[in-house]
Amino acid sequence: MAVDYGEAFLNFYKHEECGTRWADLWSCGCDDKCPKCGGEIEPYLSLAVPDIEAEMVNIHS
Ligand SMILES: [Zn+2]
Repeated sequence: MAVDYGEAFLNFYKHEECGTRWADLWSCGCDDKCPKCGGEIEPYLSLAVPDIEAEMVNIHS
């Protein structure tokens, strides 16, 4: 039986200071750390992901 992660969100980030863009999957629309400079920013876009898709990827908790 698959682990129930509940609803997941695919968050898109763009760090204006260093120009880095990335997307990550979280259990909420929360802040993430810039992989380049370590700054924390809010997502500019957050999309709910259906549970079936969430089970196929690794989720940060
Ligand atoms: Zn940055």
